[in-house]
Formats: sequence, structure tokens, C-alpha cells
Amino acid sequence: MSIKRFIAGAVCPKCSEMDKLKAWQEGGMQYRECVACGFTDSMSLEAPEELPTRVNQAQPDPKDEIQVVKIFDGKTQ
Ligand SMILES: [Zn+2]
Repeated sequence: MSIKRFIAGAVCPKCSEMDKLKAWQEGGMQYRECVACGFTDSMSLEAPEELPTRVNQAQPDPKDEIQVVKIFDGKTQ
């Protein structure tokens, strides 16, 4: 069920080896494992406090500018 993937550029906090950390999610938890020294870590996914989940809502709608242009376009001539 769980897919273990290597984290590109990640450094193991225990042995400082790069690209040795595998990560996977299981049961609402994020796990990390170092294949070099056997280090394991886990953190909960239930409280995503630092995740930028509001990126789409914060972006302005580009259609607003297009509508303004159309209003002036009808009054020319
Ligand atoms: Zn390690």
C-alpha cells in the first residue's frame, strides 16, 4: 500500500549522507528512513501547519483585467 520514495537532496540528520532517505506515508503519518545508517523518523500528517494550502485562493483572477479592457474597447470610435 505504502510507496517508499527517495527524497532528492535530503540529508540524513544522523549520518549526514545525502540521497539516502526514503519517505512514505502510512496511517496518516509521514515516515522517513535512512538506508545508510538505519535512521527512522516519523511525523503526523494530521496537523499541516506549515503547508501552503491556500496558494490557489490567494492568487488574483487575471480575468478582471481583461474585463476592464473590454469596457473601454466598446467606447472607442
Ligand atoms: Zn543516515
